[in-house]
Amino acid sequence: KLAQFPFVREIDGFEFDAQPSLDPGQIRELVTCRWIAHGDTTLFLGPPGTGKTHLAVALGREAIRQNYSVQFVTAATLVAMLAKAHDDGSLDKQLTLLARPKLLIIDELGYLPFEANAAHLFFQLVSRRYEKGSILITSNRSVGEWGGVFGDPVVATAILDRLLHHSAVITIRGDSYRLREKRRSGLLQ
Ligand code: ADP
Ligand code: MG
Repeated sequence: KLAQFPFVREIDGFEFDAQPSLDPGQIRELVTCRWIAHGDTTLFLGPPGTGKTHLAVALGREAIRQNYSVQFVTAATLVAMLAKAHDDGSLDKQLTLLARPKLLIIDELGYLPFEANAAHLFFQLVSRRYEKGSILITSNRSVGEWGGVFGDPVVATAILDRLLHHSAVITIRGDSYRLREKRRSGLLQ
């Protein structure tokens, strides 16, 4: 009952031919949910429209079918939740709640730069879940750009150190699927 996906998508509806930079075998391995059983991390990195949220939702729905608890939040919502809890004096309680689902999906990291202190709050969340529950993050920024996203290279390094320890980093290249049809019909170059 946690999830809150923005839309319904399945792996079956994903056209691998349209995204040749993805290894279908690697996605099929993720569909087994073994990485969730182990508490590992998955990162989907790539430009807008390349299917990151589609894959995140599809994997989240598969995890639910396999009886894992799943929560889906955008990075912006998550940071707002943590900042509010910090101001209220309820940070510890909020961190406990966010550590509960076996899979936490954090969508769209990097679209907005973090406010001061947000990186530190995010670090506390990642530490709380470390080696207990899986995190799936989607981002339009490469890992090398996360120092800029977090606004604090030292905290970004500490966050990445934990996230990347047991992880699959899947970098998607190529064009937006959303613009594909337009390109085909000659409306775009
Ligand atoms: P991103 O999160 O990377 O910006 P989305 O996952 O939201 O992109 O994809 C944009 C839209 O295009 C969604 O409706 C998604 O289902 C669809 N889409 C993207 N890539 C594919 C694909 N390879 N096959 C089928 N649909 C796709
Ligand atoms: Mg997206």
